Amino acid sequence: MKTALLSSKLLTSSFIVLCILFVAVNSVKAHASNSIESVRLWSAPSSTRVVFDLKDKPDYSFFSLRSPNRLVIDFGDSQAQVDFKKLARSDHRVKKVRTSTPKNKKSKRVVLELEGTYKLVVFPLAPTGQYGHRLVVELHDTAKPKPVVKNKKADENRDVVIAIVAGHGGDDPGSIGYKGSYEKHVTLAIAKKLAAQLNKKNGLKAVLIRTGDYFVRHERKPRMARENKADLLISIHADAFTSPQPNGASVLVQSARRANSEFTKVIANREKESQLLGGAGEIIKNTQDDNLAVILADMTKEFTTQSSYMFATEALKELKKVTKLHKTKPVGLSLAVLTAQDIPSVLIETGFISNPKDEKNLNNPAHQKKLATAITRSIQNYFNRYPPKGSLLASKNMPVHSVVNGESLSLIAQRYNVSLSALKKENGLKSNIIHVGQKLTIPK
Ligand SMILES: [Zn+2]
Repeated sequence: MKTALLSSKLLTSSFIVLCILFVAVNSVKAHASNSIESVRLWSAPSSTRVVFDLKDKPDYSFFSLRSPNRLVIDFGDSQAQVDFKKLARSDHRVKKVRTSTPKNKKSKRVVLELEGTYKLVVFPLAPTGQYGHRLVVELHDTAKPKPVVKNKKADENRDVVIAIVAGHGGDDPGSIGYKGSYEKHVTLAIAKKLAAQLNKKNGLKAVLIRTGDYFVRHERKPRMARENKADLLISIHADAFTSPQPNGASVLVQSARRANSEFTKVIANREKESQLLGGAGEIIKNTQDDNLAVILADMTKEFTTQSSYMFATEALKELKKVTKLHKTKPVGLSLAVLTAQDIPSVLIETGFISNPKDEKNLNNPAHQKKLATAITRSIQNYFNRYPPKGSLLASKNMPVHSVVNGESLSLIAQRYNVSLSALKKENGLKSNIIHVGQKLTIPK
């Protein structure tokens, strides 16, 4: 294996030398109107994204070849100012990016030498923000990824699963901060801290939809959440505005069609509804009655919208304790990231990266931890109150104690006949300090 690899490497490197010579000759001969100005490559767990930055809108065509596996892209009327050699050094799908003999004197041929066969997605992107015209090449693994979480206790005492999406990533930096920091790094740092905290809690399980610096397509996020049987989908973002003044956090939900008062009514009937909706998916799939399917699909949507709203309110209550709020009520918006109609979903704008003070905080690990703790608390509060059927939290059905004047933590522990350490652990308390009105979950 090793010898074969070595010899093929030798062959390709001598080939590249030839190519470079050719490029040099070619660029003298022909004057192309478009040019490839840079190439960026991002590796994700189940795909690789290659982005060609171009001077103008690309005129392109592509085809793939087998043995060895290659993707060939022809850029019409183009030249390249790029050193392809440095690309793909650590990617495990693209072995090498190189140029090859073009179709004609004015075009440019780029070859991606591939490790295997992949599902190809190639599309141009129009200029946005700091980026100009681009051509995006995505190579997706064809083998269906196994669900990350194996919920062994499928129907009994299962963990409540929270899917966390760190906004942006890879070639999509998100908003750029006042001092130049990238939203994609801030969101990932907070998401990781949040997941770590949740995974320490009994009965909760976090699943990170993005674990590194790469882009996850919008339609993949709810699908991944579904594969992991998520009970809640949280997207972490940071806001930005054209002026540096706006600041603070906000929580966004899929826009609600009904007034807020309606939510309370539905939540009161939650148990009945959730039983009905538990099998709704199957009924929708199998039913011949179009009307019934529409009604059930609508109910599923209503249920998720209402749950999302209830959780968003809880999240704001906790976030308020650690950061200024930009909006004190959940903001209803129709967003591409919130398309999971069957999973309650919220988008948390953790602050304004375009505000100097917020940006500093958002990049500060201690502040990131505070935000993660607040979100963790809101998740605990919400699911302790509304534990999904069959979950460990539902079986525990732990009483909640509201602290009154004169009570100490040890007194409360004594009263419920639980150990002080168990009480502290359940509520994520580090010290014995409690305040009047604080809600404590009493472990069994
Ligand atoms: Zn964002």
